[in-house]
Amino acid sequence: MTINTKNFINKRLAFVSSYFSSAIIINTIVSCFVVFSGINHSPSQGKFNWFLVLTLISLLRIANHIYVRNSNNLKYHLYFLGVLMTGVTWAVYPILFFEQMVMQEKFVSLVVFSSLAGGGVNVLASDIRSSISYITCLLVPFSVLLLLQPISDENVLGVLGLVLWFILCFVTATRTAKDVKSSINNELKLDQFIENLENDVQLRTEQVILLEQKDNLTKLFNRGSFVSNVELDLANTNNDIKAILFLDMDDFKLINDKFGHDFGDFVLAQTGKRLVDTQTQGDFIACRWGGDEFIFYSRNSTEDALYDCVFRLVKTLTKTVSMDSYQVNPSFKVGLYFTRENFELQEAIKYADVAMYEGKKNRNEISVFDERMHESLKREEILRSSIKECVEKGDFHLCYQPIVDITTNDITTFEVLLRWQFNDEFIPPSEFIDIAERYGKINMLGGFVLEQAIASLSKLNAINSGIGLSINVSVLQLESHNFLGLLTGFLSKYAVKPKNVHLEITETVMIKNLPYLSKVITEIKNTGVRISIDDFGTGFSSISVLKELSVDYIKIDKSYIDNICECSKDKSIVSAVTNMSHMIGCQVIAEGVENTEQLKVLKSFYIDKYQGFLFSKPVKFDQALKLIN
Ligand code: C2E
Ligand code: MG
Ligand code: MG
Repeated sequence: MTINTKNFINKRLAFVSSYFSSAIIINTIVSCFVVFSGINHSPSQGKFNWFLVLTLISLLRIANHIYVRNSNNLKYHLYFLGVLMTGVTWAVYPILFFEQMVMQEKFVSLVVFSSLAGGGVNVLASDIRSSISYITCLLVPFSVLLLLQPISDENVLGVLGLVLWFILCFVTATRTAKDVKSSINNELKLDQFIENLENDVQLRTEQVILLEQKDNLTKLFNRGSFVSNVELDLANTNNDIKAILFLDMDDFKLINDKFGHDFGDFVLAQTGKRLVDTQTQGDFIACRWGGDEFIFYSRNSTEDALYDCVFRLVKTLTKTVSMDSYQVNPSFKVGLYFTRENFELQEAIKYADVAMYEGKKNRNEISVFDERMHESLKREEILRSSIKECVEKGDFHLCYQPIVDITTNDITTFEVLLRWQFNDEFIPPSEFIDIAERYGKINMLGGFVLEQAIASLSKLNAINSGIGLSINVSVLQLESHNFLGLLTGFLSKYAVKPKNVHLEITETVMIKNLPYLSKVITEIKNTGVRISIDDFGTGFSSISVLKELSVDYIKIDKSYIDNICECSKDKSIVSAVTNMSHMIGCQVIAEGVENTEQLKVLKSFYIDKYQGFLFSKPVKFDQALKLIN
């Protein structure tokens, strides 16, 4: 442990000044005693003057003690100067008045001088210069004078004085000074130890607070501390416009997949840093809500100022992020909810989230929560909260749409499509599947479909053992750990052949989690169940990926079939996809075939199967049975 010299000097100064008053008092008493008491057998004006000089020096020393600041580096040396001047004044005393003194006075004076010198050892111990010079001034001139006298008694006194001087200077004073020095050092070490300990504790406390309140990667507030900070601000709020912004980075998953997780983390950390910078510039609170989602609270006096702030924020966040040779321009979808009223924070966050989600759907960079969204949110909440109850009540049922062999026109498979009749209203699957996926109901709903479908397949197979059933599954179902167990459980419970079960996975969602999904798909295929890629052409899958996964069917999306007669581009795409699929041993199904012209074109491409209103709309189970009969 190294000790700061400044601290050392301060301590010494404190030591010197703590003994200062006693030093002055003793000096004054002893000088009075010497000049005015009964030992003074030779009173004179000279002695009185000497006393005045000593008193003047004491006053100067007192002034130094009181008026010179401790922070002044000179103060410590001024103390020494004061001691030296006092010592010299004492040294002068025997020189001036030796001749006038009688033997008894000389003897008593030497005793007094010796006691003063002895006292000086302790009082001046922290400054060896002071103690040595003070003791020397007091004893040496006086003793030498005594030694020089012809009278042997006086010589003995002189020797005694010098012996005492030697012991006091070279034994007592040095040792005491050493002790004081080491005690000051120990004290300093203790001070420093305590200071370090306090710093450590403070640092640890800050770290704990940081861990508790901040997100590690982005250094932004985490959910909990964001909520409490915003609520505090709302409680002290005025008439300002208060806004919640929900920010979601576009295609963060792609950034991660393409450049690796380290770069993905770097992009998030940069976003956090930019938000922190923005936060420190104004009256904002930012937080990482999770993953690539951020929330921002802001207060502004006018709507214009608020928009200004949002635009500036987006501009900052979308600047290029680069690390080594990697670089991206992150883009965001921002949902904005604002009001002059006081709001319930959780609700405001939900509104901003809804606005952001709308922006994602419509590809708007900034979307403001409005009345229309409020209505649709209310509807969404009603639907979300009714799904489970409606499954139990039997308001959900399955429809079956035939998939037909294009050459024989025989039904080979039915696609199972879920229907929801809710309070006399038909809710389209595009609406409720999305809600079920976003609110964690899809596993329950998908499980219901899976069981119902496999149960009905066993009835269909009782009539025609070759008929298959194509079941739509959400990627979220595949990601749930018990999916495979559930599937094999139903297969054995209803004793259906696995090869008659086809699972349809939508291409767009499939590409987002390819590494994980390919593992699940392989496991499913090992049970004998077939795999179809639904809505092919709406995502980015390449045929080589499908080969890797060894999928069984590709369902070309209806959007390519709609204009296949007129649009030569669609024609060539469908033809090329069909050829390549055949090359990798995969059959092709055309979706949404509505007229014979389309069918003719598809036949000319040697597509394997088709599905669409031309052959049949989705029908109830009884009708499906009739169709295969
Ligand atoms: P999808 O799997 O692509 O289903 C085909 C959709 O096209 C069905 O719509 C079907 O009724 C419709 N369709 C078939 N042929 C024609 C046609 O010739 N013309 C027109 N205009 N439409 C046709 P639906 O039943 O509304 O289903 C929409 C989507 O909802 C489905 O698309 C599927 O992705 C999803 N879906 C339906 N049921 C389920 C389910 O049980 N689970 C999951 N996860 N998704 C489901
Ligand atoms: Mg489908
Ligand atoms: Mg489809």
